[in-house]
Amino acid sequence: MPPQIPLIEHYRDHLPVTAATPRLTLGEGGTPLVRAAALERETGIPEIWLKIEGANPTGSFKDRGMVLAIAKAMEDGAKAVLCASTGNTSASAAAYAARAGLPCIVVLPAGHVALGKLSQAIAFGARVVAIKGSFDDALALSRELAAGGEGTLVNSVNPHRIDGQKTAAFEVCEVLGDAPEWLCIPVGNAGNITAYWKGFNEARESKMAKRRPAMYGFQAAGAAPIVNGEIVKDPQTIATAIRIGNPASWNGAVRARDESGGSITAVTDEEILDAYKFLAQQEGVFCEPASAAAVAGLRKLAQTGTKPTQVVCVLTGNGMKDPDRAITLGPTIVETAPTIEAVRAAIRG
Ligand SMILES: *Cc1c(COP(=O)(O)O)cnc(C)c1O
Repeated sequence: MPPQIPLIEHYRDHLPVTAATPRLTLGEGGTPLVRAAALERETGIPEIWLKIEGANPTGSFKDRGMVLAIAKAMEDGAKAVLCASTGNTSASAAAYAARAGLPCIVVLPAGHVALGKLSQAIAFGARVVAIKGSFDDALALSRELAAGGEGTLVNSVNPHRIDGQKTAAFEVCEVLGDAPEWLCIPVGNAGNITAYWKGFNEARESKMAKRRPAMYGFQAAGAAPIVNGEIVKDPQTIATAIRIGNPASWNGAVRARDESGGSITAVTDEEILDAYKFLAQQEGVFCEPASAAAVAGLRKLAQTGTKPTQVVCVLTGNGMKDPDRAITLGPTIVETAPTIEAVRAAIRG
């Protein structure tokens, strides 16, 4: 394999990268696109691909946008970076800030961040503040801190985040030789669906692709402001990465949906957990619950209406982020005596 080229170097012609932009990298991008045979059999859709974004350095797609946002913050002489986060943004910001030698401040909703993500932010040395409020409250506070000069805001309201994240659409087009017929993606703050749509439009303009996909976004039923057409005051879902009631890129998501002829619909926590288990136990792909919303939604759409022939589902984050949820997928482990009889008995259950 050739040595990996930094993502922002590889796609510099499509990004606001100049000679003065530091080539910051932790090896992000170039993630696997894997066929989902069991899901194809179940849905009757001939070709389904999973974009494994959990293979990024900190375990989520957030690294694609964060590397650019923090490289640009370095270029602009930032003294610190800060963000609100449901978990993965903070893990990514903290890692790239450490790499860049910048202090990082993260504001989180207390009690609603998966353990793996929290441990990353701590390990990378971020200043972590947990507020007794929602992600939406955390984002409002972070915007105020940034406006007050505390540091550069690296949430997806920072346009460099969207630009970096659109590179995933380029990769999909390069591997498949064109854009897929459908793209299925979870929607939280709606930065990623906005970024993919931007990426697919630019891919067509630059002849990387001939067509654009129909964009299918999925929100959790208890956190579905775009589906309902109104802000959700107290969003609730086990998929903590999409537990957001007032998405910052709401307009971008609506534009992606309407311009592409797709839809944004809701999936229940039960459907999300069922898809999460299916992916792990039928495909051998371990993603986090929020990511499984894309597959839960596809399974639902496949039961109604016309079926596409080719779909890409974006699996946004790694399953190991949320160990507390993961261990609920199988039976409780019981300890036994270290004898062959006891172990045989334990295997039979
Ligand atoms: C951030 C995140 C999402 C939601 O992405 P948005 O850009 O906020 O819509 C989904 N899944 C995972 C794993 C995430 O980290």
